[in-house]
Amino acid sequence: METGVIFDIKKYAIHDGPGIRTTVFFKGCPLSCWWCHNPEGLTMSAQRLYIKERCIGCGECIKVCPQEANSLSPRGVITDQSKCIKCRTCAQACPSEAIEFIGKTSTVDDVVRKIERDIIFYDESNGGVTFSGGEPLMQPGFLLELLDACGKLEIHRTVDTAGYADAKILMSVAERTELFIYDVKHMDSEKHKKYTGVSNEQILSNLELLAGHGANIKVRIPIIPGFNNDNENIDRTGSFISSLPGVSNVNLLKYHDSAIAKYKKIGVKYLLKNVSPSSEHELESIKKRLRKHGLKVKIGG
Ligand code: SF4
Ligand code: SF4
Repeated sequence: METGVIFDIKKYAIHDGPGIRTTVFFKGCPLSCWWCHNPEGLTMSAQRLYIKERCIGCGECIKVCPQEANSLSPRGVITDQSKCIKCRTCAQACPSEAIEFIGKTSTVDDVVRKIERDIIFYDESNGGVTFSGGEPLMQPGFLLELLDACGKLEIHRTVDTAGYADAKILMSVAERTELFIYDVKHMDSEKHKKYTGVSNEQILSNLELLAGHGANIKVRIPIIPGFNNDNENIDRTGSFISSLPGVSNVNLLKYHDSAIAKYKKIGVKYLLKNVSPSSEHELESIKKRLRKHGLKVKIGG
């Protein structure tokens, strides 16, 4: 049986596909979008989190660390990351839960057991399970087994992806998926690369491939002011999506910076500076512009 690394399982989700859903968050993503609101999903390896507000300065984590990686300072516990081997001993010893680890290796059975507990809600609401992240396509063996197991239980399956993956893997996933939520971020490859870490060619060609095979796809566009909200990019995006056979549903996601606190906790730099969320008026005008391309556009998840 395959194992995989996940960082959360969210129950009763209502924005990750139709109905009431359980969303499984895979750890690891090949992109590194400047605005990512799940920075804890970027790396495959577990991340150590120190929550200073909970720390009582008892020094237990210093005593138990086999690497002598921790020391106490006026700013709380400092950890020498070059020494830390992520053994989790400090988290187990901490009396005030000031140290946590994000990311856990799970078996397919572990995850399916949690998903199937809510079958009654899926049945009543036409919901199901959503595999998200991070990027679920980065752990293909684990994802495929999960999809098969959920398929046997007749649970509706959604895959939420950025589409940057091997086309063969994507097609295997498509055979086992009822709905894709597929992100389109920018039509200009250079700009895409600057803000996400990868170019967009593979993402766009995979979307064409999926659509050509009749997959059920909802396109999602995160609207990031100053990055992709200009008329030229919106028109290019609208024209591309409307050229895809059978694809007409688009969701616009409003940018917000509420993840900044998470970046601080996990010690990752937040790169998007001085960006304010779009106004409702601006989102409405982007919606109107995309509708001119024959698309059905909704603001929100
Ligand atoms: S995870 Fe292990 S090595 Fe790292 S600081 Fe904690 S006890 Fe030390
Ligand atoms: S064991 Fe926990 S509470 Fe004690 S110093 Fe370390 S982080 Fe702070």
